[in-house]
Amino acid sequence: MVATEQENITQLFEGIRQDFPLLQQDMRGKPIVFLDSAASSQKPQAVINAIDTYYQESHANVHRGVYELSQKATDAYERGRALVRQFINAPSDEEVIFVRGTTEGINLVASSYCRKFLSEGDEIIISAMEHHSNIVPWQMACEFAGAKLRVIPINDRGELIMEEYEQMLNDRTKMVAVVHVSNSLGTINPVEEIIEKAHQKGIPVLLDGAQAIPHMKVDVQKLDADFYTFSGHKMFGPTGIGILYGKKKWLDAMPPYQGGGEMIETVTFEKTTYGNLPHKFEAGTPDISGAVGLGAAVEYMEKIGHEAITAYEAELLQYATEEMQKVDGVRIIGTAGKKASVLSFLIDGAHPYDVGTILDQLGVAVRTGHHCTQPLMDRFGIPGTIRASLAFYNNKEDIDRLVAGVRRAAKMLLS
Ligand code: PLP
Repeated sequence: MVATEQENITQLFEGIRQDFPLLQQDMRGKPIVFLDSAASSQKPQAVINAIDTYYQESHANVHRGVYELSQKATDAYERGRALVRQFINAPSDEEVIFVRGTTEGINLVASSYCRKFLSEGDEIIISAMEHHSNIVPWQMACEFAGAKLRVIPINDRGELIMEEYEQMLNDRTKMVAVVHVSNSLGTINPVEEIIEKAHQKGIPVLLDGAQAIPHMKVDVQKLDADFYTFSGHKMFGPTGIGILYGKKKWLDAMPPYQGGGEMIETVTFEKTTYGNLPHKFEAGTPDISGAVGLGAAVEYMEKIGHEAITAYEAELLQYATEEMQKVDGVRIIGTAGKKASVLSFLIDGAHPYDVGTILDQLGVAVRTGHHCTQPLMDRFGIPGTIRASLAFYNNKEDIDRLVAGVRRAAKMLLS
């Protein structure tokens, strides 16, 4: 019998959990079911080894030494950048800035771009489903400049109301900053359309790609995004490293975000001239081992392949959604037509925290609360949700354990 494409994909992912040492351990005396990858993913052995080898064989500070070891460290760091550049199809290494993560990427743009381009009376557009990381930095920039923050509303399924968005765009709009995939709802936003509409009026767009990059192919040139930012730790890489991609024309026009070593050309007490991109935005000793680990994560994901990852996870999310819908009293929050890897839900009459605590006792790790999206929770009139978030190392058994745990929690808490 010829195996179907779906069977082939399932087979491909069967052994993948073996690549993740942490997933071999128990939690609460049971094999761990890790369903909190939207908060932070686990790391494959290849990433752990790359960081280990770097420290054992190549560590020195980068960009400064003439000696061989420093050059080796610089090569390893810049190799990480080149791997990311090709992973997101950025036109050049100059446009790939190492940052601490998505939060810093957004803060960099909100601080630097807004210092140059935002004035009193201007507007910045975000959406109702943003993570606090894509709200607070813009609020701070608006407060500083006397500008206004505008918010694209969503419908009850958790989809952006695009007609309202179009009407918001005007001559005063200086930036559109939206999330590619919502961390609380799983909604995949129509980012191509968002960008196209903004560009028709000459407005740049920043995409928060924290929850997109682990699950789908991101091509910044195809998207035509002006800025795209994400965190290494959510895409199987280490914590403390992330990427801000920006178009050269914007990055060249923006002032540095932080001052210090590495980002200068010349310094006198009278005047400093700044270094070229990307170093202009990388003040101080960077997270060298983080860049090495992120590069290893990129290589690991590419070996599996984006198409397979997206197809496998779509099937798993569909299975999880269908199984969860069968549980009496469960309400799914976020039912958009296009979703990725997040299943948020509530059990009517039970507090999310209590459900999460019972699931923990059963060896199932989920997140409960507002997921750093308080305004979104307010929009739905709820204090928070229980969120199961998937990665390609999860499987149907994980979902079965989750659903069985949710049934048990409902019985315990509602009887
Ligand atoms: N944006 C989204 C959509 C997120 O899910 C997260 C993290 O959960 C962030 C931004 C912030 O990422 P980090 O804490 O890695 O900077």
